[in-house]
Amino acid sequence: NIAFIGEALRKTYLTGETEVHALRGVNLKMFSGEILVLLGPSGSGKSTLLNIVGGLDRPTSGRLWYRDTDLTSLDDADLTRFRRKNIGFIFQFYNLIPSLTAEENVRLVTDISDDPMSAAEALDLVGLAPRRHHFPAQLSGGEQQRVAVARAIAKRPGVLLCDEPTGALDSATGVRVLETLAAANRELGTTLILITHNAGIAAMADRVFNFLDGRIASIQTNETRISAT
Ligand code: ADP
Ligand code: ADP
Repeated sequence: NIAFIGEALRKTYLTGETEVHALRGVNLKMFSGEILVLLGPSGSGKSTLLNIVGGLDRPTSGRLWYRDTDLTSLDDADLTRFRRKNIGFIFQFYNLIPSLTAEENVRLVTDISDDPMSAAEALDLVGLAPRRHHFPAQLSGGEQQRVAVARAIAKRPGVLLCDEPTGALDSATGVRVLETLAAANRELGTTLILITHNAGIAAMADRVFNFLDGRIASIQTNETRISAT
């Protein structure tokens, strides 16, 4: 059951007169329900690929499919529709709106989604139901990130894209955030694609893509993780 197929993906940025080759011909398959980690040195192309897979950016050349849809053939409006329906994002910094409570932050998404869970249900999944009326400033960093996870999963996206989701947290707090991501994978079947330097996350992955200089240089498969279906 395939989520994404990428063929010969290239991304070249032009800054002034200098070309930066962020992706130099990436071929990939990502399976529905898997946990995939993108690993590699800074500047090796991980964020560029995440942005392209999430429909925030387009490759310079190559093809990318999500299930039956050729994303590279969509116009901007349809690419935005694809992203709103199918993709949830988690970033290193939680990007919550400070003047809204936890529940109101989640409702921003549930109010505009087709078949969302309730904000209360999403906050319950991340263990924050008791704090739903708190404002971000009244929550710890880990709790704020769990609100961000609740906001991302409330619309039941097929795919959750995470760029250093525990990068701003101490390790104990990071583990609780990871548990909420693992729960979304297990209970909702959400495909997880994560950029991380956290060894604990790499251990919970089905596969690790090792990036080097704009390419996937190798892939490690973790046979021992029990995959969620
Ligand atoms: P990583 O996520 O592995 O750190 P990135 O995908 O962010 O790598 O970056 C890959 C390369 O592309 C780097 O050299 C980076 O500076 C460059 N790059 C990324 N985004 C842009 C952009 N918007 N404009 C110009 N260069 C960029
Ligand atoms: P990270 O360390 O999380 O990979 P980056 O520094 O690679 O962060 O990039 C953060 C954001 O800035 C990305 O969305 C990327 O597109 C953009 N970016 C990265 N490098 C450049 C650059 N040289 N010029 C412009 N934008 C960039």
